[in-house]
Amino acid sequence: MRGVVMHAPGDVRVEEIDGPKITAPTDAIIRLSATCVCGSDLWPYRGVDAVDQPTPMGHEYVGIVEEVGSEVRNVKPGQFVVGSFVSSDGTCEICRAGYPSSCVHRVFMNEVGTQAERALIPNADGTLVATPGMPDADLIPSLLAASDVLGTGWFGAVAAQAGPGKRVAVVGDGAVGLLAVLAAKQLGAEQIIAMSRHESRQKLAREFGATDIVTERGDEGVAKVKELTGGLGAHSVVEAVGTQESMQQAIRSTRPGGNVGFVGVNHDVALSGEELFFAQVNLLGGPAPVRQYLPELIDLIWERKINPGKVFDLTLPLEQAAEGYRAMDERRAIKTLLTP
Ligand SMILES: [Zn+2]
Repeated sequence: MRGVVMHAPGDVRVEEIDGPKITAPTDAIIRLSATCVCGSDLWPYRGVDAVDQPTPMGHEYVGIVEEVGSEVRNVKPGQFVVGSFVSSDGTCEICRAGYPSSCVHRVFMNEVGTQAERALIPNADGTLVATPGMPDADLIPSLLAASDVLGTGWFGAVAAQAGPGKRVAVVGDGAVGLLAVLAAKQLGAEQIIAMSRHESRQKLAREFGATDIVTERGDEGVAKVKELTGGLGAHSVVEAVGTQESMQQAIRSTRPGGNVGFVGVNHDVALSGEELFFAQVNLLGGPAPVRQYLPELIDLIWERKINPGKVFDLTLPLEQAAEGYRAMDERRAIKTLLTP
């Protein structure tokens, strides 16, 4: 089958790779209806993460079940399914406590690679959620968004305790940051401040529910958030970048007693203990427990109450994946959808 393989930073190829085979009775194989390029795929693309050997790429997916192992009960061939970017059993104590992305049997789907025609899904029963039926074509981008960026933005907003009466700020205007805005709106936040310098992204943030836009960064950005929140800082801040600057900006924009949800994949962030001590904020982050939110998110999409698929502003055939990476790297595209 055809699949995306990264050979070195900046070198993405679509080539013939081995198709998936069921080896465990809990596995399933899906045929991808759509897949996409993630902001986190840009870390190796830009050489920030090492690429030691040719690596199959991708961890976001929706598709149709082709085959299941002998112990799979919750999904069957022919069903349209959405799954998280982390496979989880759904039964261990960590899963039952609401953190399937830290499941004791977790498999990060980037180890499998979903930018391909088909993909192996380990722990199928705990990982996949079937939609009520075959989705209309226009729902597929939104269902695909649920696989990672929507679920991750949602977790960021939940971890930051966005809700009624809350003033929320979102650091980062990539797909996750924009969908954290959407999540904060759905969760009933009173004020949603999106931090963005890019006009097209500001526009989408407004569409998703942002009430204010802050273009400043660093200390100036923090000052602006404080100015918009009665001088105190936001109750809830979502960090959706993962750099030193964005983490500091998030923590410093939060009022004492407030909550930071940090969902940008951290790269070399070092926080001062003294600053943390006096900031007096709650911090919760990590790989988002997307699977926990999937049934609710699929419902909202199916009922057409939210349209997170709007973050895909470039759609290409799988064969043109290299251009999809380039466009995101150069920030010409927010997010690239690939059709196998
Ligand atoms: Zn588990």
